[in-house]
Amino acid sequence: MTRIVVAGFQHETNTFGATKARYADFEEADAWPGLLRGEEVVSGTAGINLPMAGFVAAAGSDPAVELVPVVWCSAEPSSYVTDEAFERIASMILDGVRGAGAIDGIYLDLHGAMVSESFQDGEGELLDRIRTVVGGGLPIAVSLDLHANVTERMVRQATSLTIFRTYPHLDMAETGGRAYTMLRHHLAGVPVFKAFRQAPFLIPLSAQYTGASPCRELYGMLPRSVSLDGRAADIATGFPAADIFDAGPSVVSYALTQDEADRQAERLMTAIEAAEAAFDSALMSPAEAVRTAMSSSSNKPVIIADVQDNPGAGATSDSTGLLAAMVDGGAQGAVLALLNDPEIAEQAHGLGIGGVLNAALGGKSGLEGIGPFEGRFRVEALSDGRFPFTGAMYAGNVAALGPTAVLRVLDSDADVRVIVGSKRCQCLDQAIFTHIGIDPAQESIVGVKSTVHFRADFEPIAHRVLNAEAPGANPCRLDRVDYTRLRPSVRLGPSANLLPTVPSRSALTKRTY
Ligand SMILES: [Zn+2]
Repeated sequence: MTRIVVAGFQHETNTFGATKARYADFEEADAWPGLLRGEEVVSGTAGINLPMAGFVAAAGSDPAVELVPVVWCSAEPSSYVTDEAFERIASMILDGVRGAGAIDGIYLDLHGAMVSESFQDGEGELLDRIRTVVGGGLPIAVSLDLHANVTERMVRQATSLTIFRTYPHLDMAETGGRAYTMLRHHLAGVPVFKAFRQAPFLIPLSAQYTGASPCRELYGMLPRSVSLDGRAADIATGFPAADIFDAGPSVVSYALTQDEADRQAERLMTAIEAAEAAFDSALMSPAEAVRTAMSSSSNKPVIIADVQDNPGAGATSDSTGLLAAMVDGGAQGAVLALLNDPEIAEQAHGLGIGGVLNAALGGKSGLEGIGPFEGRFRVEALSDGRFPFTGAMYAGNVAALGPTAVLRVLDSDADVRVIVGSKRCQCLDQAIFTHIGIDPAQESIVGVKSTVHFRADFEPIAHRVLNAEAPGANPCRLDRVDYTRLRPSVRLGPSANLLPTVPSRSALTKRTY
């Protein structure tokens, strides 16, 4: 019997975010399950598009494999993981490894961009500690998010890393399955020579869509699956909202000789570097996006992505720049989701449907440049925030978002509604609208607090998609960010002067930590 310890500990850390990830944030269910222990790791992730589920499904087809599940948890992207959370969860994993008896390998479902209060490279630290327990020879296969900021230490300590290849992340479970294939090769004793390269520039999230150039072609260069002898390669486009030494795109490569691993990595990194100017970072001002959307004569909605206030990248999801632009621009048939304001959602539930409230909506994070939208609102619909996701990325999981309300903006000629929630959750699934009585396909303008993930579920109903530059803690104009910890000479994405000039009305959020 082959015994494999499996564990997951996911966090994407936005060092510009407003709130830290505490232990309680890992415990709670949100768009993904809450903290799972032991056998729950298998039952609680089954059927969900998660790497752990894909790994378990692949391993389950082999009767000679026994999995030893330890823990799986994630928290919504945010600022630093607290030391308390990091130490408690790392200890669970280490205790699980120590208590598992004789084992043959380990699988870890990690994000790859975790920054704790004490460690810039959370995953590297965790892997170091595991290696101290199990020694250098035990195979450890790791799956990572496409937005991983991969470090040399992670590459050195993991036997192999395998990385999502799609953004929107439709292949999370598939990547877990690939990690199982990699681990089988390691268990069979196939030699592993590794290569790792980091790009000398950052790519904003808004330019990382794998459905368009240049990412589509770059990811097209990867072998579809791990070859029979264990040769593999992957690209991480990196997570730029992290002021850390190792932020940015990278390539990992595994082969039977060092020479071959190096050649494969070099080929991919050369292509990434050649594509630098092609990463399209053009953003519209919110007012221009609303004007453009209003000029559409299609009967399909125009989607306006509030790319910088994406909670899935650690932003607060309560900036009001796009909402204000919709109202100021007199938008008709417009709706925005999901604005995080638990206080207002609770007030709306207290008033009931038809109730009217004066409120300072959103803008409560304390981040500079992000203020509330003050006005009068009517409560049009309410929900408890529990509903099954219906889009491909989150399908199989039930949302647990707490009290949620649809508010209509009053005292305006504009026809604008906003869905207000009680937990930060990226608006990447139509069910966020439909579960509370709004069919986004029937609207004229749909605002989504998401950078790219929304494209999977919303492009099929959209006339077109516009990226708007409202304030938010997920900076997509990187040349305006005051990084202090990056590697020397790392370039900050496509230079603003290469882009169509769009006057920016919103200063990018800057804050000193
Ligand atoms: Zn990601």
